[in-house]
Amino acid sequence: MTEGKDIADPEEPTDAGDRAGLAARFPAGVLTTDPDVVAGYAHDESRLSRRSLPWAVASPANTEEVAHCLRLAAEAGIPVVVRGAGSGLSGAANAPTGSLVLSTHRMTSILEIDTTNRLAVVQPGVITGALRAAASEAGLFYPPDPGSVAFSTMGGNVATNAGGMCCLKYGVTGDYVIGLEAVLADGRVLRTGRRTLKGVAGYDLTHLLVGSEGTLAIITEITVRLLPAPARASTMVAMFASLSDAGRAVAAIGEDAVDTSMLELLDRTTLGAVERKAHLGFDGDVAAALIVQSDALTSADELAAAEAACRRCGATEVVVSSDPDEADLLLQARRLALPALEALGDCLLDDVCVPRSRVVDLVEHIQRVGVEEGLEIGVFGHAGDGNMHPTIIFDESDDASRTAAMRAFDSITACALRLGGTVTGEHGVGRLKSAWLLRELDPVSAEMHARVRHALDPQGLLNPGCLLPG
Ligand SMILES: Cc1cc2nc3c(=O)[nH]c(=O)nc-3n(C[C@H](O)[C@H](O)[C@H](O)COP(=O)(O)OP(=O)(O)OC[C@H]3O[C@@H](n4cnc5c(N)ncnc54)[C@H](O)[C@@H]3O)c2cc1C
Repeated sequence: MTEGKDIADPEEPTDAGDRAGLAARFPAGVLTTDPDVVAGYAHDESRLSRRSLPWAVASPANTEEVAHCLRLAAEAGIPVVVRGAGSGLSGAANAPTGSLVLSTHRMTSILEIDTTNRLAVVQPGVITGALRAAASEAGLFYPPDPGSVAFSTMGGNVATNAGGMCCLKYGVTGDYVIGLEAVLADGRVLRTGRRTLKGVAGYDLTHLLVGSEGTLAIITEITVRLLPAPARASTMVAMFASLSDAGRAVAAIGEDAVDTSMLELLDRTTLGAVERKAHLGFDGDVAAALIVQSDALTSADELAAAEAACRRCGATEVVVSSDPDEADLLLQARRLALPALEALGDCLLDDVCVPRSRVVDLVEHIQRVGVEEGLEIGVFGHAGDGNMHPTIIFDESDDASRTAAMRAFDSITACALRLGGTVTGEHGVGRLKSAWLLRELDPVSAEMHARVRHALDPQGLLNPGCLLPG
């Protein structure tokens, strides 16, 4: 980790006269430089990531206005950061000094739900939960469900290739994206992909843009495929007397090829924090819980197999339910994990992913680091994917505590790489992990990243400092 605290970029002098002239050339009603508004667009939900005050916020309503804004920014050489809901956790939507933030909050139309071809076309500012609801009304299913499903945008989800709780069975956002419209840094409009079930013509530019964190182009329209609605899910909670036992059970469920649509882990610290917030009746003696769901037609058999695997690994109690209200309560508990931990102090959230077979090694390392650094670390995450969110609780006003938190963060991220994993499973690289990306990539791959970026954005104006170090 390269950042010490919520760091501001150095001030860059700007010519106020030039900027006023430039502002006047934006489409009517699109630009604001009101300092109170602009300040609200300086950073996302991450901690200890580089951020600063942008110059202005543009809120275009359509592709043409996005292109107009980008042409003006390119002409004036102003960096542009596109922003969805700002719910990101890696500093990817943080603004560089004097930049233009381009917000998609006026681009919120669901343009099409096509039941015959099972696809949807949306503008980037559509909230993911709204698309899921619209698909469901049409008898279809848009699977990706990040914890932020109620407030994050489709544009943000595509640009971070967001995951969520059902990736184990259904994959990540990018697995559903089949076509995009995007505006390049110079204002040209690009269409990628297709509307057909199959299609292999040319380079896969669609998936080059997926996960590009606003560094290659601004996405203005998204085409996703939809699935038939799944069967009603059954849910199980298994309690363990140690975090390591829960980690072993994750591997065992995988080994037994159980058809699960969700496999989430919460440790004692997280369960305690959730309990204090929501009073769901979790026992304070439980060291870890696994929430397991199956939406297979054979869900009863699948959960019986999952229960057997958990008991083999030392589960102290297992409760199975096919009641959708009970399942909702459990999912609510899981979605509360981060906000509940945030009530315990300042939180530095990590996001690492290891092979499922190594989850136990990862959680044991996290526990050791917590003891060594004298820090409480809440552990929760999508254990079935090997994607964990160790959350380091620290005191930002105390230098020693902050330094210890950063050491713990670095140690956990390094451990994930050693275990054959990756530095980010779903939150993205952003500004928080740009140095870590270079540790994960081999030198040739790192060079290709830089070349691709230069090819699409030769002036380097799109989200500078994000993904690759500035
Ligand atoms: C409580 C909570 C729970 C969360 N749970 C999850 C989870 O389970 N899984 C998960 O993956 N993430 C999760 N997140 C993180 C976050 O919600 C996701 O990263 C989400 O995809 C960000 O969407 P956004 O609209 O807020 O994007 P922003 O934060 O605004 O932007 C994120 C990145 O996308 C870029 N971007 C945004 N719109 C566009 C566009 N139109 N074109 C090009 N680039 C664009 C931005 O420049 C930035 O680089 C969670 C966050 C919170 C606060």
